[in-house]
Amino acid sequence: MPHMMDDFPLLLSTLYDRAVRLYPGQEIVSVESDLSLRRQTYAETDGRIRRLAAAFGTKLGLGEGAIVGTFAWNNVRHHELYWATTNTGRVCHTLNIRLFPEQLAYIINHAGDRAIFVDPDLVGLLEPIAGELDSVEAFIVMSDHLGDTTLPNAVTYEDLISDVEPHGAWPLLDERSPMMFCYTSGTTGHPKGVAYTQRSTYLHTIHNLATLPITARDNVLPVVPMFHASAWGYPFEATVSGAKITYPGPDLSPEGLVQLFHEERVTFSAGVPTVWLGIQHHLAEHPEIDVSSIEKFLCGGSAVPRAMIDWYWSNRGIRVVQAWGMTETNPVASVALLKPGMEEWEHQRQLDFMETAGLPILGLEVKIVDEEGNALPHDGEAFGELLIRGPWIAAEYYNDPRSPQSFVDGWMRTGDVCKITPEGYIRITDRSKDVIKSGGEWISSIDLENELMAHPAVKEAAVVGVKHQKWQERPIAVAVLAPGKETSEEELLEFLEDRVAKWWLPDRILFIDAIPKTGTGKFDKKVVRDQYSEVLM
Ligand code: ADP
Repeated sequence: MPHMMDDFPLLLSTLYDRAVRLYPGQEIVSVESDLSLRRQTYAETDGRIRRLAAAFGTKLGLGEGAIVGTFAWNNVRHHELYWATTNTGRVCHTLNIRLFPEQLAYIINHAGDRAIFVDPDLVGLLEPIAGELDSVEAFIVMSDHLGDTTLPNAVTYEDLISDVEPHGAWPLLDERSPMMFCYTSGTTGHPKGVAYTQRSTYLHTIHNLATLPITARDNVLPVVPMFHASAWGYPFEATVSGAKITYPGPDLSPEGLVQLFHEERVTFSAGVPTVWLGIQHHLAEHPEIDVSSIEKFLCGGSAVPRAMIDWYWSNRGIRVVQAWGMTETNPVASVALLKPGMEEWEHQRQLDFMETAGLPILGLEVKIVDEEGNALPHDGEAFGELLIRGPWIAAEYYNDPRSPQSFVDGWMRTGDVCKITPEGYIRITDRSKDVIKSGGEWISSIDLENELMAHPAVKEAAVVGVKHQKWQERPIAVAVLAPGKETSEEELLEFLEDRVAKWWLPDRILFIDAIPKTGTGKFDKKVVRDQYSEVLM
């Protein structure tokens, strides 16, 4: 006899069923592709999820293990797809709508997607590559109206789920079976795939909820795309908590988001720093806008400017909580929460810790190592590559020969260069590919960006290393001015002089209209480096 029910599998469907049973009237609000609002309760959504799950088999011939692609915004049909695949052992392959066509074709063929669900306004992005997609048998347009399309075997979502008997009890799956494929954006070489499993996502969900709780009284609005690392797990976390969920659809403008926060009384939202920077400047120009329902934003995916955390807290009473993670970490792996005692500190001292990537989430272990793999002390001074391990960290890339470079002795190499403070806070100084080495000495691009963005006239700033005759490499900055503000290169250099070592000062600060962004909204430093590689030569 086992001592406990140790064989009870960790399946997301058990968490899902509980939430639908306990919170049937809870609401999901969704901005559709035509910008209309759709509202459904958990009970209504469950009915649709069960019809979709049944239609996978009866209408599309997709059995357990089949790969189902999604090419969509954050909306309620995408939510239904997450759960209908997860609860039945199909694999949801979320396709990043911002990938280049050749990368998109590569990942669809690599994963072997059998069907692709596509939002009506995104059909035009898929049509040109449809002929190259060998495994895809059907395209489903996420609407009740098909419109003109050259996609072969296209049907509408609403037709697909009409006239089907809803799925009954969810199957008893192997907890180690994959339930989601997420590909990294692949700035070098082809994108790499990570297969999240029932077990890894189940554990990620409950450990993240234990770290940063969401309850049925919350209203969660994920800005981070559902096509990027499962929107950091929020569709799962919000659902199993019984929270109200608000999906913003295609309008991610500061105006559109702020209006949803206000009208739907959103309490919690998550996204990359560029989203919150945009909203900060919008709110600064419109002090009359009410976003008082918001308690916290989770912010991560790239370094979070200290000045922005400060602004939201001082001006709006909103906590910007920094998190760190990667597609490979399922994805949230550390969160910058204050320890007891720190709550009483004055704000600037708190910011010294809130501006870090935070403490590893319970269940995960981290260490930093030098180039030979020797562990370094957690003294806030030594820096090296961050390694991580735990039950929801990737052990390999899906079907990819590049795995051995990243997974070593049971640890995953993150490619992030970090310090760890004696209190255990992870301080990211750079991605290894963004490190600037000037005359052999190392300069943190993230620290410089942070200091530049602390200047009130700077909305966004990116710092990269470019070729230099004497020092091999020197930092330069590109900056975007805040609306209605002015400054000059000289003024910014003077501002920096008091804040960083003199030899860190960028050799040039160039003002530009917009910083190039990656498909997930981060500063695309590779593009910046390529564009300005010769400015100092
Ligand atoms: P990609 O950006 O390559 O598509 P990911 O979204 O998985 O893929 O990015 C993970 C990377 O994002 C991390 O390795 C790290 O460099 C960066 N990152 C994430 N969160 C933070 C943070 N809070 N501070 C600094 N960098 C971060």
